[in-house]
Amino acid sequence: MRAIVIHAEKDLRVEERETLPPGPGEVQVALAVGGVCGSDLHYYNHAGFGAVRLKEPMILGHEVSGRIAALGAGVTGLSEGDLVAISPSRPCGTCKYCVEGLRNQCLNMRFYGSAMPFPHIQGAFRETLVCDATQCVKAEGLSAGEAAMAEPFSVTLHAARRAGDLLGKRVLVVGCGPIGALVIAAARRAGAAEIVATDIADNALGYARRMGADTTLNVAADPQALAPYLPDKGTFDVMFECSGSEPALAQGIATVRPRGVVMQLGMGGDMKIPMQTITTREIDLRGSFRFHEEFALAVHLMRTGLVDLKPLISHTLPLDRAVEAFDTANDRRQAMKVQIAFN
Ligand SMILES: [Zn+2]
Ligand SMILES: [Zn+2]
Repeated sequence: MRAIVIHAEKDLRVEERETLPPGPGEVQVALAVGGVCGSDLHYYNHAGFGAVRLKEPMILGHEVSGRIAALGAGVTGLSEGDLVAISPSRPCGTCKYCVEGLRNQCLNMRFYGSAMPFPHIQGAFRETLVCDATQCVKAEGLSAGEAAMAEPFSVTLHAARRAGDLLGKRVLVVGCGPIGALVIAAARRAGAAEIVATDIADNALGYARRMGADTTLNVAADPQALAPYLPDKGTFDVMFECSGSEPALAQGIATVRPRGVVMQLGMGGDMKIPMQTITTREIDLRGSFRFHEEFALAVHLMRTGLVDLKPLISHTLPLDRAVEAFDTANDRRQAMKVQIAFN
């Protein structure tokens, strides 16, 4: 079976790997679709991000769906042929954070396609994946592409949960890549009254509108576009920072009202922040990282038709064009979510 392996910056290869049978409690999945994530792109473009560096070849990928090909001993509730969304979140279940219920903060997390630990955690972009049955959520009724959107959507459901009550709130979303666009879908579902979204690319803002943004602003074309939201100590109750850009973070914070919440999702490494505004407006600055229990909810919201994420899938390319898929995902003027078809 073939897998997509990152060796170094801009050195992405499709390579042969051994096909393994499922062990007890495991399933073997014929992968259907894998979505290219911003973190996959960081490994492709820069061999890492922040302090995380690629130190050995690593199979990329963590946004995947597939069909059950074989069941290991003792697996119930799944059948051969089932379409499943596969959660890449694999906490240990026994460390102090797992015991507290903070599974996304697990000390021994084995999240697919991550160079944070060494040896690196190999990813899921492979034609045949063996995983725990408990990672699988049935996705019948969805397309394989939609099922693979469960992972990035989970990230934004977790962020929406961290943000607290969104019912009737005025929300600013800074940066409308796939995560920003999915934050809009999550915030809309959670009852936001008004959603304003910013980006520097018109293509991204088009997707933001399709996901339910009321107002979209191109802050490259008009650097003053957020000015109407500055008076009276700011407008927004909640800001989701999804760009990882230091100037975008600062511009956004200026529009957050007293006692507002700034949710940081963007991964741009360490940044300078306008701490004086945080202090004097009593703003809550919160981080959000990955997810765990939100994964099943993400699949549920799609299966019941409460959210439709299909419009975000802009490109689907076959496995043998993996490098082209990554280069396409890098071009924000034309791409939103780029997916790779494995089977
Ligand atoms: Zn991702
Ligand atoms: Zn743990």
